[in-house]
Amino acid sequence: MKTRAIVIGGSLGGLFAANLLQDLGWEVDVFERVGDDLASRGAGIGTHDELLAVLGRLGIEIDDRFGVRVAERICLDPAGNPIYRLAWGHMMSAWARIYRPLKDRLAAPHYHAGRNFSGLTRDRGKIVAHFDDGSQARADLLIGADGLHSTVRARLSPGTEPVYAGYVGWRGVVEESAIPARVRDCLGVHYYFALPPGEMMLCYPVPGRDDSISPGHRDWNYVWYRPTATQRELRDLCTDINGRYYGTAMPPPSVRPDVTRKIKDLARSTLAPQIAEIVELSQPFFQAIFDVESPRIALERVALLGDAAFVARPHVGMGVTKAGLDAICHAKSIAHANGDLDGALERYDRLRG
Ligand SMILES: Cc1cc2nc3c(=O)[nH]c(=O)nc-3n(C[C@H](O)[C@H](O)[C@H](O)COP(=O)(O)OP(=O)(O)OC[C@H]3O[C@@H](n4cnc5c(N)ncnc54)[C@H](O)[C@@H]3O)c2cc1C
Repeated sequence: MKTRAIVIGGSLGGLFAANLLQDLGWEVDVFERVGDDLASRGAGIGTHDELLAVLGRLGIEIDDRFGVRVAERICLDPAGNPIYRLAWGHMMSAWARIYRPLKDRLAAPHYHAGRNFSGLTRDRGKIVAHFDDGSQARADLLIGADGLHSTVRARLSPGTEPVYAGYVGWRGVVEESAIPARVRDCLGVHYYFALPPGEMMLCYPVPGRDDSISPGHRDWNYVWYRPTATQRELRDLCTDINGRYYGTAMPPPSVRPDVTRKIKDLARSTLAPQIAEIVELSQPFFQAIFDVESPRIALERVALLGDAAFVARPHVGMGVTKAGLDAICHAKSIAHANGDLDGALERYDRLRG
């Protein structure tokens, strides 16, 4: 009989882990609480050699359409003039560009969307995962790839809570075809920085929604880190026009019009005009930045990976790569353990924890 794993969280970390275990001959089921296809998450992702290596190991082809190649990093002053240039080749990709092949590679009946994990029990050497629709699933191993606010981590490491870092990342994606030609000509194909005091703005081209990287068909992605110092301010940001409070992030269309207007006006007054133009054309949304580090990442047949285990602050654009490397280490530990699952998890905890 095949050894069986349950993965909680069907985003990139969960899909890396599931695909790698599936390749070892395990039967793997992924449970994702969001019911819709996650491919619509529109954010850009910077690639790294290690990330491409993980994808390559899974046989996912990295061709020229995988990302937009930028050759230079340029820091702009508020007037739009370059104040620093650094030659640095980098391939900028898109979240969906990584998610889709990983999800397609899993056999469809093993990806369960719309299933919210609520807790686990143990029964005769098996882990029993419970979902809030009342259903259950049994396995030899449970992997928590359920992100920053992990429910699995709460079982493995009670008391480890994410700590708000005092700022948010404003994000947006704009179709290149919507950007006026004069701004497009001025931008070219580069990776831009702007550094208002205490803030950081990054802006770069990524593949378009149809994966196109041709001029005029790409998207432009930005991430603008801005302090939102108090929990009260954050609560206000996360409250929609009807007074509904969303926790620490909300769907882009629910961001209040007055909040959207304010961020666009701030872009005009503090950022280079060509970057402010992109913010103006976008539907801004935000993610609050938190730190979390679990003291244990594997214990008694439960393992954590990706953001559930430890969050790498997003400025370095390494979160997805880190999730991939966690998944590789986890799979290698199991492959080399000759059936000693507890030994494999100890190794994983030692090397990645
Ligand atoms: C502003 C910002 C910019 C970033 N930019 C980059 C970048 O350029 N490059 C990069 O590599 N990284 C970037 N990151 C980091 C990156 O997004 C994360 O590191 C990465 O998404 C982690 O993947 P994950 O699978 O561990 O977690 P997540 O992507 O958070 O996925 C967790 C999944 O678990 C599901 N889930 C949660 N709870 C449950 C439950 N109870 N039951 C079932 N499912 C559940 C969620 O719905 C979600 O789909 C950025 C992050 C931020 C905030």
